[in-house]
Amino acid sequence: MNISRTEKFIELISAPLPEELEAVREEAFRDGIPIIRPSVQGFLRFLMTYSGPERILEIGTAVGFSALLMKIFAPGASITTIENYEPRLKKARENFAAYDREKKITLLEGDAEKILPELKSNEYDFVFLDSAKGQYITFLPEIVRVLSPGGLLVSDNCLQDGDVIESRYAVRRRDRTIHDRMREYLNAISIHPELTSSILPMADGVTLSMKKTED
Ligand code: SAH
Ligand code: MG
Repeated sequence: MNISRTEKFIELISAPLPEELEAVREEAFRDGIPIIRPSVQGFLRFLMTYSGPERILEIGTAVGFSALLMKIFAPGASITTIENYEPRLKKARENFAAYDREKKITLLEGDAEKILPELKSNEYDFVFLDSAKGQYITFLPEIVRVLSPGGLLVSDNCLQDGDVIESRYAVRRRDRTIHDRMREYLNAISIHPELTSSILPMADGVTLSMKKTED
């Protein structure tokens, strides 16, 4: 299946984005920022409406597109989002100043590896993981710790344009470490005693996990 044709189709047929979000999307597209694709936009939009999260954590803000999307479709939520790359932080600050006047979004500036251990346990009922793919596996224990029982974890870009399903010898040598780490991550969320997970071949690969409740 041709992912970009499918995504184009989904984009055309989906309900239009609110005006301010469309403005952020267009600028991000122009600047080559890797924001969530149309199918993932629709998926997050659905999950926000369906589960009505109250405290959201995002890892990988970029310029704030997905954070603003979650804010709009989960109007009751407060959102904490982490980014460490200064040029993107600058744009994210501007976008939040313009489109988040109620200040529902808190931008934490720095490396998620340092910031995650500082966050409270069981604090977030929705976590969106969309940072450097090679770090997903190292972030997982901290993410499970901060996720509340019954809370959801969504991670983006888990199939690396199909590379992850290939043998490690079929991918370029320089891509093997990331290939191994992503396999390890998919395996870890699949067998994790505290999670129930599904892997969705949507866009570039999305996972959906729930932290189990202690019945
Ligand atoms: N979620 C955004 C896109 C994020 S792109 C959207 O859809 O609108 C991934 C971002 O993660 C990049 O801006 C990158 O700088 C950031 N990132 C990668 N590793 C990180 C880390 N360890 N800590 C904080 N941010 C990180
Ligand atoms: Mg992504």
